[in-house]
Amino acid sequence: MSEETIFSKIIRREIPADILYQDDLVTAFRDINPKAPLHVLVVPNILIPTADDMAQEHEPYLGRMMTVAAKIAREAGVAEDGYRLLMNCRDHGGQEVYHIHLHLLGGKPLGPMLA
Ligand code: C5P
Repeated sequence: MSEETIFSKIIRREIPADILYQDDLVTAFRDINPKAPLHVLVVPNILIPTADDMAQEHEPYLGRMMTVAAKIAREAGVAEDGYRLLMNCRDHGGQEVYHIHLHLLGGKPLGPMLA
């Protein structure tokens, strides 16, 4: 069984975080070390450690993560200019917290990611 991370404590509101949205499936909060004017993490309320652990049964969580990220982007006023959604997987992907999270980055030109 996988170990819980700090994100489980944020979801349960046991430690402080700037939570922008929460429902029965997902939680969205501001990244503590923002890489853009808007940097939000959208996480499932259950522990899925990495993108490689995503399974068909998780699709309601994964779909909600995407639509909530888009809603937050619209509400933050960055949707018209555009933004980036990304998920890192394991060591080579640069994943630090082993509870999947969708990064929503926006509010400035981010440039081509694979330049
Ligand atoms: O994709 P990756 O695992 O590298 O991203 C982890 C992200 O979680 C980092 O951007 C980090 O700043 C953020 N984080 C956070 N709150 C914590 C611990 C990490 O927002 N308590």
